[in-house]
Amino acid sequence: MIKPRIAIFDFACCEGCQLQIVNMEEELLSLLEHVQPVEWREAMSDQSDDYDIAIVEGSITREEDANRLREIRKRAKTLIALGACATLGGVNKLKNLFDLEEVKTAVYAESASLPILETATVQALHEVVDVDYRIEGCPIDAAELTYVIKCLLIGRAPAPPNYPVCVECKLAENVCRYDYDEICLGPITRAGCRARCPSNAFWCFGCRGPVDDPNVHAATQVMEQYGKTVEDLKVKLTLFGTQ
Ligand code: SF4
Ligand code: SF4
Ligand code: SF4
Repeated sequence: MIKPRIAIFDFACCEGCQLQIVNMEEELLSLLEHVQPVEWREAMSDQSDDYDIAIVEGSITREEDANRLREIRKRAKTLIALGACATLGGVNKLKNLFDLEEVKTAVYAESASLPILETATVQALHEVVDVDYRIEGCPIDAAELTYVIKCLLIGRAPAPPNYPVCVECKLAENVCRYDYDEICLGPITRAGCRARCPSNAFWCFGCRGPVDDPNVHAATQVMEQYGKTVEDLKVKLTLFGTQ
């Protein structure tokens, strides 16, 4: 059997999602029996323009990044967005709340006017090219990457969870963070992380993005029941919900 050729690329991000792949260890070795990595800057020195599947981490913050992503898209039959920076724009989109010149000056001081230090409004991958599949999370859950690759190998479309984090949280029998007088984005956030944050005594801050058709009415009712406002919710959404 000819193995699909996989390339992994990164743009603006902390590379923590790629680290999750490296950390797969034994699972990664068994995956490599079925796919052939041809480019992966974090783990190998080879480079290639010939690949079937491109896995792309990070968000787009410069025009030259957008052009590079378009080239990757042209070459890949399948493009997978890896992690919240790629699927949502992630925490990088906080930059969009500020004037770009102000941002450049804050980071580069008197060098900010150098043309080499170009910057632009942050975009998620799907805002620049067509994305076939998304692996959500900051960072991703490596098991979800394995699931998506296995689906592609057998010619099946991956189906990520389309229900809120609260479902997994209830299954884990956690005490709701609202009972601790906190605001949790679990009611409107896509599940798939096994309610990682509420299971570790923290509220969900929405890193997997909104579930399709979120039950805003139910979320509003929860907020009202605990004396919170929609404005409180919007503040919490800033981290992963900024456009
Ligand atoms: S999604 Fe989070 S962990 Fe992944 S690269 Fe972006 S900031 Fe890092
Ligand atoms: S609101 Fe948060 S803590 Fe409460 S059930 Fe939903 S996910 Fe769990
Ligand atoms: S609980 Fe929320 S913030 Fe935490 S990993 Fe899951 S989706 Fe992300």
